[in-house]
Amino acid sequence: MAKKSSSLKGLGCRYGIKLRKQYTKTYKLLKSRRLCPECNSIKFKREAIGIWSCNKCKFKIAGNAYDIKF
Ligand SMILES: [Zn+2]
Repeated sequence: MAKKSSSLKGLGCRYGIKLRKQYTKTYKLLKSRRLCPECNSIKFKREAIGIWSCNKCKFKIAGNAYDIKF
């Protein structure tokens, strides 16, 4: 793992470093791969805020905005 957290494009330098770090953390959490609890497929993604669904078996689950909890 790299020591320095890489900044993401999109926010620019308009916001403070604290907010940008938080954004990067949230973004990575959102884009990180998740396994479907039903069929263990990696095609498990967030469909809308709070709604997570699997593209393979159409399994749907309600979760947090940026992460799921079981
Ligand atoms: Zn599935």
